[in-house]
Amino acid sequence: KLIVFEGVEGSGKTTQIQRSRHWLLERMNQKPSNVVVTREPGGTTLGSRLRQLLLQGHQHPIQDRAELLIFAADRAQHVEEVINPTLLAGGIILCDRFTDSTIAYQGYGRGLSLELIENICQVATDGRTSDLTLWLDVDVEVGLARAKARGTADRMEQADLAFHRRVQQGFTALAAAHSHRIVRVDASRSEAEVQEQIQMILTQKFAQ
Ligand code: C5P
Ligand code: MG
Repeated sequence: KLIVFEGVEGSGKTTQIQRSRHWLLERMNQKPSNVVVTREPGGTTLGSRLRQLLLQGHQHPIQDRAELLIFAADRAQHVEEVINPTLLAGGIILCDRFTDSTIAYQGYGRGLSLELIENICQVATDGRTSDLTLWLDVDVEVGLARAKARGTADRMEQADLAFHRRVQQGFTALAAAHSHRIVRVDASRSEAEVQEQIQMILTQKFAQ
């Protein structure tokens, strides 16, 4: 199963992925080799180099379409090298961001055509979609404050508030349009409460 965690900066994706992995191993008796934690950008060796390019500041700004294609290159490598082989072996993937981030950030955030992005995503994923996407929904201001509190802000996190608000609108629109696949989680609550909600959703969705 491909389980994706999405949301704005500071929504708690990374923390909840770690807690979910722990729960799957300790309570759901999954073998460690069967649960793969990964992320975009940066889930492969090529991807971690692309991630550096994307997140560090640049003397010459990255053009929007160039940025879109770097994220797409990261994803194409990730799907072939990590996601597809893991799914083929029957594994569970907990993935930090996937195609919905591209629609939210490069589409709603940067203003690139959604149709163009869907085509690029199709190329990057070769048609692979998530089995479940957990949207960790938190106010943009709250999330950015959390992200700031944890240290230095990367190139994206330094973008203005209006940009992050558009990204949030993107996630909101996606969740409304794909309610069969995307489930909203109230991420303004405590870490433990958010994790409880996630465990309920995973149990319901994947209980045999
Ligand atoms: O989730 P994480 O903070 O590790 O993601 C790295 C950065 O890449 C984020 O700050 C996010 O804003 C940005 N990003 C993006 N477009 C994507 C995926 C991530 O702008 N498609
Ligand atoms: Mg970030």
